[in-house]
Amino acid sequence: MTARIIDGKTIAAELRARTADEVARISRENGLTPGLAVVLVGNDPASEVYVRSKHKQTQAAGMASFEHRLPADVSQADLLALIEKLNRDPAVHGILVQLPLPKSLDTETIVNAIDPAKDVDGLHPHNAGRLAGGLAALSPCTPLGCIILTKSVHASLEGMDAIVIGRSNLVGRPLLQLLLNENATVTIAHSRSRNLRELCARADLVYAAVGRPEMVRGDWIKPGATVIDVGINRLPSADGKARLVGDVAFPEALNVAGAITPVPGGVGPMTIACLLRNTVIAACRRRGLAEPAL
Ligand code: NAP
Repeated sequence: MTARIIDGKTIAAELRARTADEVARISRENGLTPGLAVVLVGNDPASEVYVRSKHKQTQAAGMASFEHRLPADVSQADLLALIEKLNRDPAVHGILVQLPLPKSLDTETIVNAIDPAKDVDGLHPHNAGRLAGGLAALSPCTPLGCIILTKSVHASLEGMDAIVIGRSNLVGRPLLQLLLNENATVTIAHSRSRNLRELCARADLVYAAVGRPEMVRGDWIKPGATVIDVGINRLPSADGKARLVGDVAFPEALNVAGAITPVPGGVGPMTIACLLRNTVIAACRRRGLAEPAL
């Protein structure tokens, strides 16, 4: 059996197209242009690429994109002052501070300074708490993307056995909550979990968000399971260029799973698409307009 490949690029493009349609509609009917502000501190090359891509895709969706670049040695007070200004700016509906921040800055203080109503990255404790309580919240983008990808295979996740490997605030924990909201039965595993292979083998849905190249082997996976690989790991290759692999041994899993995301081209493209969607939702909530569906 060869698994169906879940094409994240196409699914993300469809979500961006639906988002662009929503933006055009609320702009026409309500005179509202959703705006996303991205703050980049320093010049980490991976973050630069990511921020450029966000800018391009935000504009392509018909939204306003505001970019703020600050030097790596910016003071915490100056960064907080910028966030405060963006919190008050009515043209800005979503604020994203690109992580990781330089070590001289306290990430928690910075994230907590963002107005929760504009926290389109879903990392503010207010949103994390609401999500954990099963209340409407802005959810972190990568886990949201994982759910959309899963639903491209299964219309309903109700009653399915899911395992999430990884418990970070960015991916594993919010994914657990989103899966519970979908009425899945969820196991969450981490570096201290025992018998990971056995836990995996009984899951209908496997989410790997660990950051360890190809850790999840093909023979851990239940035949026919859906595998969503969040991991992005750079391995050296023979030609000296980096090769990207996920947390799942893709060639092995391909012969066992029912459906699987590739790396790259699976979860990765969904993250920015979900960020745009979250920004439209934040803009609609601010104006008291009906929110677009996924
Ligand atoms: P993280 O903060 O480093 O968390 C990794 C998690 O994996 C931790 O909960 C850790 O457990 C667990 N873990 C580590 N070794 C393990 C092992 N041997 N067995 C079981 N669990 C283990 O990483 P993250 O931010 O969640 O990211 C995870 C991966 O996803 C990375 O490769 C990252 O690059 C990728 N990522 C991709 C996207 C995207 O857009 N596609 C977005 C975000 C992240 P403990 O809690 O016990 O330490």
